[in-house]
Amino acid sequence: MRPGGVTSPGTTLENKTGAWRNFRPVHDNMKCKRCCEPVAIGRLERFVADWELEKGLRIPEKAPPTGKRVAVVGSGPAGLTVAAELAKRGHDVTIFETLHKPGGVLVYGIPEFRLPKRIVEAEVEYVKQLGVKIVTDVVIGKTLTVDDLLEEYDAVFLGTGAGLPSFLGIPGENLSGIYSANEFLIRINLMKAYAFPEYDTPIKVGKRVAVIGGGNVAMDAARCALRLGAEEVYIVYRRSEEEMPARQEEIERAKEEGIKFLTLTQPIRFIGEERVEQMECIRMRLGEPDESGRRRPVPIEGSNFTMPVDQVIIAIGQKPNPLVMRTTKGLVVDKRRGIIIADSYGRTSKDRVFAGGDVTTGAATVIAAMGAGKRAAEAIDRILRGD
Ligand SMILES: Cc1cc2nc3c(=O)[nH]c(=O)nc-3n(C[C@H](O)[C@H](O)[C@H](O)COP(=O)(O)OP(=O)(O)OC[C@H]3O[C@@H](n4cnc5c(N)ncnc54)[C@H](O)[C@@H]3O)c2cc1C
Repeated sequence: MRPGGVTSPGTTLENKTGAWRNFRPVHDNMKCKRCCEPVAIGRLERFVADWELEKGLRIPEKAPPTGKRVAVVGSGPAGLTVAAELAKRGHDVTIFETLHKPGGVLVYGIPEFRLPKRIVEAEVEYVKQLGVKIVTDVVIGKTLTVDDLLEEYDAVFLGTGAGLPSFLGIPGENLSGIYSANEFLIRINLMKAYAFPEYDTPIKVGKRVAVIGGGNVAMDAARCALRLGAEEVYIVYRRSEEEMPARQEEIERAKEEGIKFLTLTQPIRFIGEERVEQMECIRMRLGEPDESGRRRPVPIEGSNFTMPVDQVIIAIGQKPNPLVMRTTKGLVVDKRRGIIIADSYGRTSKDRVFAGGDVTTGAATVIAAMGAGKRAAEAIDRILRGD
Protein backbone atom coordinates (compact mmCIF):
# COMPACT_ATOMS: atom_id res chain seq x y z
CA MET A 1 0.00 0.00 0.00
CA ARG A 2 1.44 3.38 -0.91
CA PRO A 3 1.80 6.00 1.81
CA GLY A 4 -0.79 8.71 1.50
CA GLY A 5 -2.97 6.57 -0.71
CA VAL A 6 -6.12 6.56 1.35
CA THR A 7 -6.23 9.30 3.93
CA SER A 8 -8.59 11.62 2.17
CA PRO A 9 -9.92 13.15 5.39
CA GLY A 10 -8.30 16.53 5.95
CA THR A 11 -5.98 16.19 8.92
CA THR A 12 -4.04 19.40 9.34
CA LEU A 13 -0.42 19.44 10.33
CA GLU A 14 -1.32 21.83 13.07
CA ASN A 15 -3.88 19.91 15.04
CA LYS A 16 -3.03 16.24 14.70
CA THR A 17 0.74 15.84 14.74
CA GLY A 18 3.63 17.26 16.66
CA ALA A 19 5.37 18.24 13.43
CA TRP A 20 4.01 21.76 13.51
CA ARG A 21 6.51 22.59 16.20
CA ASN A 22 9.27 22.45 13.57
CA PHE A 23 7.37 24.80 11.28
CA ARG A 24 8.66 28.35 11.46
CA PRO A 25 6.47 30.94 9.77
CA VAL A 26 8.10 34.10 8.46
CA HIS A 27 6.02 35.94 11.02
CA ASP A 28 3.56 34.72 13.60
CA ASN A 29 0.24 36.22 12.70
CA MET A 30 -2.87 34.06 13.04
CA LYS A 31 -4.62 36.13 10.37
CA CYS A 32 -1.85 35.61 7.82
CA LYS A 33 -2.99 33.36 4.96
CA ARG A 34 0.39 33.31 3.23
CA CYS A 35 2.85 31.64 5.57
CA CYS A 36 1.04 31.08 8.89
CA GLU A 37 -1.72 28.72 7.64
CA PRO A 38 -1.57 25.08 8.74
CA VAL A 39 -0.73 22.64 5.94
CA ALA A 40 -3.74 20.50 4.96
CA ILE A 41 -1.86 17.18 4.96
CA GLY A 42 -5.02 15.16 4.28
CA ARG A 43 -5.78 17.18 1.16
CA LEU A 44 -2.22 16.84 -0.11
CA GLU A 45 -2.37 13.09 0.43
CA ARG A 46 -5.69 12.91 -1.37
CA PHE A 47 -4.33 14.93 -4.28
CA VAL A 48 -1.31 12.65 -4.67
CA ALA A 49 -3.47 9.51 -4.43
CA ASP A 50 -6.01 10.82 -6.97
CA TRP A 51 -3.25 11.88 -9.33
CA GLU A 52 -1.57 8.49 -9.15
CA LEU A 53 -4.90 6.75 -9.68
CA GLU A 54 -5.64 8.88 -12.72
CA LYS A 55 -2.24 8.16 -14.27
CA GLY A 56 -2.63 4.40 -13.72
CA LEU A 57 -1.00 2.27 -11.05
CA ARG A 58 2.68 1.53 -11.44
CA ILE A 59 3.67 -1.81 -9.97
CA PRO A 60 7.23 -1.53 -8.64
CA GLU A 61 9.80 -4.17 -9.40
CA LYS A 62 9.72 -7.03 -6.94
CA ALA A 63 12.70 -8.74 -5.35
CA PRO A 64 13.22 -12.39 -6.41
CA PRO A 65 11.13 -14.92 -4.40
CA THR A 66 12.62 -15.72 -1.00
CA GLY A 67 10.56 -18.87 -0.41
CA LYS A 68 9.36 -17.40 2.91
CA ARG A 69 5.66 -17.21 3.72
CA VAL A 70 3.89 -14.59 5.84
CA ALA A 71 0.28 -14.56 7.08
CA VAL A 72 -1.36 -11.19 7.71
CA VAL A 73 -4.51 -11.09 9.83
CA GLY A 74 -6.80 -8.18 8.93
CA SER A 75 -6.96 -6.16 5.71
CA GLY A 76 -7.17 -2.61 7.07
CA PRO A 77 -4.46 -0.03 6.32
CA ALA A 78 -1.98 -1.79 8.65
CA GLY A 79 -2.50 -5.22 7.08
CA LEU A 80 -2.54 -3.99 3.48
CA THR A 81 0.65 -1.97 4.03
CA VAL A 82 2.65 -4.75 5.67
CA ALA A 83 1.47 -7.19 2.97
CA ALA A 84 2.46 -4.89 0.09
CA GLU A 85 5.87 -4.10 1.59
CA LEU A 86 6.68 -7.78 2.20
CA ALA A 87 5.49 -8.81 -1.28
CA LYS A 88 7.80 -6.19 -2.82
CA ARG A 89 10.66 -7.78 -0.89
CA GLY A 90 9.94 -11.17 -2.50
CA HIS A 91 7.97 -12.90 0.27
CA ASP A 92 4.84 -14.95 -0.32
CA VAL A 93 2.03 -13.16 1.58
CA THR A 94 -1.55 -14.17 2.38
CA ILE A 95 -4.05 -11.86 4.09
CA PHE A 96 -6.88 -13.39 6.15
CA GLU A 97 -9.94 -11.15 6.59
CA THR A 98 -13.15 -11.76 8.53
CA LEU A 99 -15.42 -9.64 6.35
CA HIS A 100 -16.34 -10.41 2.75
CA LYS A 101 -14.55 -7.30 1.48
CA PRO A 102 -10.96 -6.19 2.21
CA GLY A 103 -10.10 -2.67 3.40
CA GLY A 104 -10.99 -2.61 7.12
CA VAL A 105 -12.48 0.66 8.39
CA LEU A 106 -11.77 2.23 5.01
CA VAL A 107 -14.59 0.15 3.52
CA TYR A 108 -16.88 -0.52 6.44
CA GLY A 109 -16.52 2.64 8.55
CA ILE A 110 -15.59 5.80 6.65
CA PRO A 111 -18.55 6.82 4.44
CA GLU A 112 -18.38 7.14 0.66
CA PHE A 113 -18.82 10.93 0.78
CA ARG A 114 -15.54 11.23 2.73
CA LEU A 115 -13.53 8.43 1.14
CA PRO A 116 -14.77 7.19 -2.24
CA LYS A 117 -14.64 3.40 -2.26
CA ARG A 118 -13.04 3.32 -5.73
CA ILE A 119 -9.86 4.63 -4.05
CA VAL A 120 -9.84 1.78 -1.53
CA GLU A 121 -10.65 -0.76 -4.26
CA ALA A 122 -7.71 0.53 -6.32
CA GLU A 123 -5.43 0.16 -3.29
CA VAL A 124 -6.58 -3.42 -2.73
CA GLU A 125 -6.08 -4.16 -6.44
CA TYR A 126 -2.54 -2.76 -6.22
CA VAL A 127 -1.76 -5.07 -3.29
CA LYS A 128 -3.15 -8.05 -5.24
CA GLN A 129 -1.09 -7.12 -8.30
CA LEU A 130 1.97 -7.38 -6.10
CA GLY A 131 1.08 -11.06 -5.68
CA VAL A 132 -0.60 -10.90 -2.25
CA LYS A 133 -3.42 -13.44 -1.80
CA ILE A 134 -6.48 -12.20 0.09
CA VAL A 135 -8.71 -14.79 1.73
CA THR A 136 -11.98 -13.28 2.99
CA ASP A 137 -14.67 -14.67 5.33
CA VAL A 138 -12.07 -16.24 7.65
CA VAL A 139 -12.21 -15.44 11.35
CA ILE A 140 -8.79 -15.98 12.87
CA GLY A 141 -9.40 -17.19 16.41
CA LYS A 142 -12.37 -19.27 15.22
CA THR A 143 -11.90 -20.77 11.76
CA LEU A 144 -8.14 -20.97 12.31
CA THR A 145 -5.92 -19.89 15.20
CA VAL A 146 -2.68 -17.92 15.13
CA ASP A 147 -0.89 -21.14 16.19
CA ASP A 148 -2.37 -22.91 13.15
CA LEU A 149 -0.97 -20.13 10.97
CA LEU A 150 2.47 -20.40 12.60
CA GLU A 151 2.65 -24.04 11.51
CA GLU A 152 2.30 -23.04 7.86
CA TYR A 153 3.87 -19.59 7.77
CA ASP A 154 7.28 -18.26 8.77
CA ALA A 155 5.79 -15.14 10.42
CA VAL A 156 2.36 -13.73 11.30
CA PHE A 157 1.31 -10.06 11.42
CA LEU A 158 -1.78 -9.11 13.43
CA GLY A 159 -3.60 -6.01 12.18
CA THR A 160 -7.06 -6.72 13.51
CA GLY A 161 -7.95 -3.12 14.40
CA ALA A 162 -10.17 -1.69 17.12
CA GLY A 163 -13.67 -2.64 16.09
CA LEU A 164 -15.22 -3.44 19.46
CA PRO A 165 -17.68 -0.65 20.30
CA SER A 166 -17.98 0.80 23.80
CA PHE A 167 -21.43 1.33 25.31
CA LEU A 168 -22.76 3.72 27.94
CA GLY A 169 -24.01 0.98 30.30
CA ILE A 170 -27.18 2.87 31.19
CA PRO A 171 -30.80 1.61 31.53
CA GLY A 172 -32.71 1.05 28.30
CA GLU A 173 -29.61 0.67 26.13
CA ASN A 174 -30.96 -2.64 24.72
CA LEU A 175 -34.11 -1.05 23.31
CA SER A 176 -34.70 -1.42 19.61
CA GLY A 177 -33.56 1.60 17.61
CA ILE A 178 -30.27 1.90 19.51
CA TYR A 179 -27.19 1.01 17.48
CA SER A 180 -23.47 1.18 18.00
CA ALA A 181 -21.92 3.51 15.41
CA ASN A 182 -19.98 0.48 14.15
CA GLU A 183 -23.11 -1.49 13.36
CA PHE A 184 -24.85 1.53 11.88
CA LEU A 185 -21.91 2.38 9.61
CA ILE A 186 -21.25 -1.26 8.61
CA ARG A 187 -24.89 -1.64 7.57
CA ILE A 188 -24.66 1.46 5.43
CA ASN A 189 -21.12 1.34 4.00
CA LEU A 190 -20.41 -2.37 3.70
CA MET A 191 -23.85 -3.96 3.45
CA LYS A 192 -25.38 -1.09 1.42
CA ALA A 193 -28.52 -1.11 3.53
CA TYR A 194 -29.56 2.18 1.90
CA ALA A 195 -30.36 0.11 -1.19
CA PHE A 196 -32.55 -2.49 0.61
CA PRO A 197 -34.24 -4.68 -0.73
CA GLU A 198 -31.80 -4.73 -3.65
CA TYR A 199 -29.25 -5.63 -0.95
CA ASP A 200 -30.22 -8.01 1.90
CA THR A 201 -29.47 -5.82 4.92
CA PRO A 202 -32.16 -3.37 6.04
CA ILE A 203 -31.73 -0.21 8.08
CA LYS A 204 -34.41 1.84 9.75
CA VAL A 205 -33.45 5.46 10.18
CA GLY A 206 -35.50 7.45 12.63
CA LYS A 207 -36.96 10.92 12.26
CA ARG A 208 -35.24 12.27 15.38
CA VAL A 209 -31.81 10.78 15.77
CA ALA A 210 -29.37 11.33 18.64
CA VAL A 211 -25.72 10.45 18.09
CA ILE A 212 -23.85 10.15 21.37
CA GLY A 213 -20.18 11.18 21.21
CA GLY A 214 -18.00 13.95 19.81
CA GLY A 215 -15.39 12.20 17.65
CA ASN A 216 -15.01 11.70 13.91
CA VAL A 217 -17.03 8.49 14.10
CA ALA A 218 -19.95 10.40 15.65
CA MET A 219 -19.77 13.03 12.89
CA ASP A 220 -19.75 10.31 10.20
CA ALA A 221 -22.74 8.53 11.76
CA ALA A 222 -24.70 11.80 12.12
CA ARG A 223 -24.04 12.83 8.52
CA CYS A 224 -25.05 9.34 7.28
CA ALA A 225 -28.32 9.50 9.27
CA LEU A 226 -29.11 12.85 7.70
CA ARG A 227 -28.42 11.52 4.21
CA LEU A 228 -30.72 8.55 4.87
CA GLY A 229 -33.66 10.84 5.57
CA ALA A 230 -33.63 11.72 9.30
CA GLU A 231 -35.44 15.00 9.91
CA GLU A 232 -33.44 16.09 12.94
CA VAL A 233 -30.02 14.80 13.97
CA TYR A 234 -28.36 15.76 17.26
CA ILE A 235 -24.78 15.29 18.37
CA VAL A 236 -25.00 14.80 22.12
CA TYR A 237 -21.65 15.33 23.85
CA ARG A 238 -20.83 15.53 27.54
CA ARG A 239 -18.09 18.15 27.29
CA SER A 240 -18.08 21.45 25.38
CA GLU A 241 -17.33 21.80 21.68
CA GLU A 242 -13.78 22.85 22.49
CA GLU A 243 -12.99 19.42 23.94
CA MET A 244 -14.54 17.47 21.07
CA PRO A 245 -12.05 14.96 19.65
CA ALA A 246 -13.45 15.31 16.11
CA ARG A 247 -11.46 17.38 13.68
CA GLN A 248 -12.65 20.99 13.37
CA GLU A 249 -13.32 20.45 9.69
CA GLU A 250 -15.67 17.53 10.43
CA ILE A 251 -17.53 19.56 13.06
CA GLU A 252 -17.97 22.44 10.62
CA ARG A 253 -19.21 20.13 7.85
CA ALA A 254 -21.73 18.52 10.21
CA LYS A 255 -23.01 21.95 11.25
CA GLU A 256 -23.21 23.18 7.67
CA GLU A 257 -25.39 20.19 6.86
CA GLY A 258 -27.81 21.07 9.65
CA ILE A 259 -26.78 18.72 12.46
CA LYS A 260 -27.57 20.20 15.86
CA PHE A 261 -25.06 20.17 18.68
CA LEU A 262 -26.19 19.47 22.22
CA THR A 263 -23.00 19.86 24.24
CA LEU A 264 -22.45 19.54 28.01
CA THR A 265 -25.19 16.92 27.99
CA GLN A 266 -25.00 13.28 29.09
CA PRO A 267 -27.72 10.64 28.47
CA ILE A 268 -28.58 8.72 31.65
CA ARG A 269 -31.54 6.56 30.53
CA PHE A 270 -33.35 5.48 27.39
CA ILE A 271 -37.12 5.19 27.64
CA GLY A 272 -39.56 3.19 25.50
CA GLU A 273 -41.71 0.06 25.29
CA GLU A 274 -39.86 -1.94 22.66
CA ARG A 275 -38.32 0.83 20.62
CA VAL A 276 -36.57 3.86 22.07
CA GLU A 277 -38.98 6.82 22.37
CA GLN A 278 -37.23 9.22 24.72
CA MET A 279 -33.83 9.89 26.18
CA GLU A 280 -33.32 11.26 29.68
CA CYS A 281 -30.25 13.49 29.93
CA ILE A 282 -28.48 15.52 32.56
CA ARG A 283 -26.67 18.78 31.95
CA MET A 284 -22.96 18.94 32.70
CA ARG A 285 -20.44 21.60 33.62
CA LEU A 286 -16.68 21.45 33.20
CA GLY A 287 -14.53 20.76 36.24
CA GLU A 288 -10.79 20.21 36.68
CA PRO A 289 -8.76 18.59 33.88
CA ASP A 290 -8.62 14.77 33.97
CA GLU A 291 -5.74 12.45 32.94
CA SER A 292 -6.42 13.23 29.25
CA GLY A 293 -5.77 16.93 29.98
CA ARG A 294 -9.34 17.84 29.05
CA ARG A 295 -11.66 19.37 31.64
CA ARG A 296 -13.74 16.71 33.37
CA PRO A 297 -17.52 16.86 32.83
CA VAL A 298 -19.43 17.10 36.12
CA PRO A 299 -23.22 16.52 36.31
CA ILE A 300 -25.35 19.48 37.42
CA GLU A 301 -27.73 18.14 40.03
CA GLY A 302 -31.44 18.55 39.25
CA SER A 303 -30.82 19.56 35.62
CA ASN A 304 -32.39 16.37 34.15
CA PHE A 305 -34.58 16.68 31.08
CA THR A 306 -36.01 14.28 28.51
CA MET A 307 -36.04 14.62 24.76
CA PRO A 308 -38.03 12.58 22.21
CA VAL A 309 -35.85 10.38 19.98
CA ASP A 310 -36.65 7.39 17.81
CA GLN A 311 -33.10 6.36 17.07
CA VAL A 312 -29.85 6.54 19.04
CA ILE A 313 -26.37 5.83 17.72
CA ILE A 314 -23.66 5.31 20.31
CA ALA A 315 -20.28 6.58 19.13
CA ILE A 316 -18.24 6.85 22.32
CA GLY A 317 -15.20 4.86 21.22
CA GLN A 318 -13.93 1.46 20.14
CA LYS A 319 -11.57 -1.00 21.73
CA PRO A 320 -9.24 -3.53 20.06
CA ASN A 321 -10.95 -6.66 18.77
CA PRO A 322 -10.49 -9.27 21.51
CA LEU A 323 -10.83 -12.60 19.65
CA VAL A 324 -7.24 -13.09 18.50
CA MET A 325 -5.93 -11.80 21.83
CA ARG A 326 -8.08 -14.31 23.72
CA THR A 327 -7.23 -17.30 21.56
CA THR A 328 -3.47 -16.86 21.20
CA LYS A 329 -1.35 -18.28 24.01
CA GLY A 330 1.77 -16.34 24.92
CA LEU A 331 0.55 -12.98 23.60
CA VAL A 332 0.88 -10.26 26.25
CA VAL A 333 -2.13 -7.93 26.00
CA ASP A 334 -3.69 -5.00 27.78
CA LYS A 335 -7.49 -5.14 27.81
CA ARG A 336 -7.87 -1.48 26.92
CA ARG A 337 -4.89 -0.77 24.67
CA GLY A 338 -4.70 -4.16 22.97
CA ILE A 339 -1.65 -6.22 22.02
CA ILE A 340 1.51 -5.03 23.72
CA ILE A 341 4.41 -4.58 21.33
CA ALA A 342 8.04 -4.41 22.40
CA ASP A 343 9.07 -1.64 20.00
CA SER A 344 7.91 0.42 17.04
CA TYR A 345 8.67 -2.55 14.76
CA GLY A 346 5.68 -4.40 16.19
CA ARG A 347 7.42 -7.33 17.89
CA THR A 348 5.02 -9.06 20.28
CA SER A 349 5.80 -11.35 23.20
CA LYS A 350 5.23 -14.36 20.93
CA ASP A 351 7.99 -15.60 18.66
CA ARG A 352 7.47 -14.82 14.93
CA VAL A 353 4.29 -12.83 15.70
CA PHE A 354 4.13 -9.08 14.96
CA ALA A 355 1.29 -6.59 15.39
CA GLY A 356 0.48 -3.02 14.40
CA GLY A 357 -2.26 -0.46 13.86
CA ASP A 358 -5.30 0.09 16.06
CA VAL A 359 -4.98 -3.34 17.72
CA THR A 360 -1.82 -2.11 19.45
CA THR A 361 -2.79 1.54 20.08
CA GLY A 362 -6.57 1.61 20.37
CA ALA A 363 -8.54 3.63 17.82
CA ALA A 364 -6.06 5.95 16.07
CA THR A 365 -5.49 7.05 12.47
CA VAL A 366 -5.04 5.58 9.00
CA ILE A 367 -1.58 7.05 8.60
CA ALA A 368 -0.44 5.68 11.98
CA ALA A 369 -1.68 2.20 11.00
CA MET A 370 0.15 2.40 7.66
CA GLY A 371 3.34 3.56 9.41
CA ALA A 372 3.11 0.60 11.79
CA GLY A 373 2.66 -1.75 8.82
CA LYS A 374 5.74 -0.33 7.09
CA ARG A 375 7.96 -0.65 10.14
CA ALA A 376 6.75 -4.18 10.89
CA ALA A 377 7.47 -5.21 7.28
CA GLU A 378 11.04 -4.01 7.66
CA ALA A 379 11.52 -6.06 10.84
CA ILE A 380 9.81 -9.19 9.46
CA ASP A 381 11.92 -8.99 6.28
CA ARG A 382 15.15 -8.77 8.28
CA ILE A 383 14.20 -11.70 10.47
CA LEU A 384 13.18 -13.83 7.49
CA ARG A 385 16.52 -13.07 5.83
CA GLY A 386 18.33 -14.03 9.04
CA ASP A 387 19.70 -10.49 9.37
C1 LIG B 1 -16.16 5.84 11.24
C2 LIG B 1 -14.67 6.02 11.31
C3 LIG B 1 -14.11 7.16 10.76
C4 LIG B 1 -12.73 7.35 10.79
N1 LIG B 1 -12.20 8.45 10.21
C5 LIG B 1 -10.87 8.59 10.13
C6 LIG B 1 -10.28 9.69 9.45
O1 LIG B 1 -10.98 10.54 8.94
N2 LIG B 1 -8.92 9.77 9.36
C7 LIG B 1 -8.11 8.82 9.93
O2 LIG B 1 -6.90 8.91 9.81
N3 LIG B 1 -8.64 7.79 10.63
C8 LIG B 1 -9.99 7.65 10.73
N4 LIG B 1 -10.52 6.59 11.42
C9 LIG B 1 -9.60 5.64 12.09
C10 LIG B 1 -8.92 4.70 11.09
O3 LIG B 1 -9.85 4.24 10.15
C11 LIG B 1 -8.26 3.54 11.83
O4 LIG B 1 -7.32 4.08 12.74
C12 LIG B 1 -7.54 2.59 10.86
O5 LIG B 1 -8.44 2.05 9.91
C13 LIG B 1 -6.87 1.46 11.63
O6 LIG B 1 -6.32 0.55 10.72
P1 LIG B 1 -6.05 -0.98 11.11
O7 LIG B 1 -5.49 -1.62 9.90
O8 LIG B 1 -5.27 -1.04 12.37
O9 LIG B 1 -7.47 -1.59 11.47
P2 LIG B 1 -8.88 -1.68 10.69
O10 LIG B 1 -9.01 -0.67 9.63
O11 LIG B 1 -9.88 -1.72 11.76
O12 LIG B 1 -8.80 -3.12 10.00
C14 LIG B 1 -8.79 -4.29 10.77
C15 LIG B 1 -9.30 -5.42 9.90
O13 LIG B 1 -9.11 -6.65 10.60
C16 LIG B 1 -10.25 -7.48 10.43
N5 LIG B 1 -10.29 -8.43 11.53
C17 LIG B 1 -10.57 -8.17 12.83
N6 LIG B 1 -10.52 -9.30 13.56
C18 LIG B 1 -10.19 -10.29 12.69
C19 LIG B 1 -10.00 -11.70 12.85
N7 LIG B 1 -10.13 -12.28 14.04
N8 LIG B 1 -9.68 -12.44 11.75
C20 LIG B 1 -9.55 -11.85 10.52
N9 LIG B 1 -9.74 -10.53 10.33
C21 LIG B 1 -10.03 -9.76 11.40
C22 LIG B 1 -11.39 -6.48 10.43
O14 LIG B 1 -12.55 -7.04 9.83
C23 LIG B 1 -10.81 -5.34 9.63
O15 LIG B 1 -11.05 -5.48 8.26
C24 LIG B 1 -11.89 6.39 11.43
C25 LIG B 1 -12.46 5.27 12.03
C26 LIG B 1 -13.84 5.08 11.97
C27 LIG B 1 -14.42 3.85 12.64
